[in-house]
Amino acid sequence: MSGITIALSKGRIFEETLPLLAAAGIVPAEDPEKSRKLIIGTNRPDVRVVIVRASDVPTYVQYGAADMGIAGKDVLLEHGGAGLYQPLDLRIAKCRMCVAAPAGFDYAAAVRQGARLRIATKYISVAREHFAAKGVHVDLIKLYGSMELAPLAGLAEAIVDLVSSGSTLKANNLVEVEEIMNISSRLVVNQAALKMKRELLQPVIAAIEGAIK
Ligand code: ATP
Ligand code: MG
Repeated sequence: MSGITIALSKGRIFEETLPLLAAAGIVPAEDPEKSRKLIIGTNRPDVRVVIVRASDVPTYVQYGAADMGIAGKDVLLEHGGAGLYQPLDLRIAKCRMCVAAPAGFDYAAAVRQGARLRIATKYISVAREHFAAKGVHVDLIKLYGSMELAPLAGLAEAIVDLVSSGSTLKANNLVEVEEIMNISSRLVVNQAALKMKRELLQPVIAAIEGAIK
């Protein structure tokens, strides 16, 4: 495909990406929240945006169906990053990955006693590495959303999830018991496209870099 295809997800990433694209002279022609179109043109005839699930962005870029995209560090760690060049931390969609448990659960004691913990999460590989590094034995249960429900329903003792304000945890009587890492979104570029289309992609990357706060 000639020109540039950019993979973005709807919601916070799309919104926080708009000013960065604008700095590169790229303005999407439609708002994906209002339109049902999955391929959106821009003010530049050679640039288009494809709207995909947040966790699918690395896959589109890895296989070259998109030349570049924007994805959270959480998503990139789970994907593994194969075939992706990750030149920029965009410092958008900031949050943190943490362990959370019901307010009454003594997590520190459970860890000290070497008890086997049941952890529900969407982030299996980050959670596996985190607990392995601490020497904590865990049974990981894969979920696709609403992790907060798992301890309340008795599916797991704790969860690994993303937190920003903490209000969702609070509303469900959960507390953050351990921070795993800070999360923000990264620009990802297909490695082959970067070589083949360097004169097209490099100015966009440079303009985005200049616009990072
Ligand atoms: P989907 O909604 O399609 O299931 P998702 O929940 O991963 O996927 P978003 O909620 O749009 O999609 O999140 C996209 C990215 O934004 C996440 O991968 C993460 O990096 C970041 N993010 C998630 N939750 C928050 C939050 N509460 N505050 C800030 N950034 C967040
Ligand atoms: Mg979400």
